Amino acid sequence: MTPLRGTCLCGAVRFEVTDPFDRIGMCHCASCKKISGGAGTVSGRVRSDAIRILVGEELLTTYRPDEGSAKTFCSRCGTNLFGGGWPESPMAPVRLPTLDEPYEATIEAHLFVRSVAPWEQLPEDGAARYDGRAP
Ligand SMILES: [Zn+2]
Ligand SMILES: [Zn+2]
Repeated sequence: MTPLRGTCLCGAVRFEVTDPFDRIGMCHCASCKKISGGAGTVSGRVRSDAIRILVGEELLTTYRPDEGSAKTFCSRCGTNLFGGGWPESPMAPVRLPTLDEPYEATIEAHLFVRSVAPWEQLPEDGAARYDGRAP
């Protein structure tokens, strides 16, 4: 496949994804709300070693919370790029909004729906819903 290209908001970090995503999921958990400033994160999951940093590797910073998985940001603009413990974890979610071209896909799973906020409404999109993480 043609690699997917992605960038952070300031453009200093550029990366590519060389494998197809195996699942598109939206995570509604409290951490994803905080890091996104919105309802959560929408990600495509891929093997960690299919994510190649092209430029800006020195700007990447990884936050490791006491609970939940590590999240990686651009330290200049704050864009959250990857989660799930990348690069140590076998699989990692790539935040779809960081891809340069709109990714043609629909959400297949809503994760951590127990953390849906009072101001948030889950869409009737037919996607699977999980209380916590997906099995
Ligand atoms: Zn940046
Ligand atoms: Zn989450």
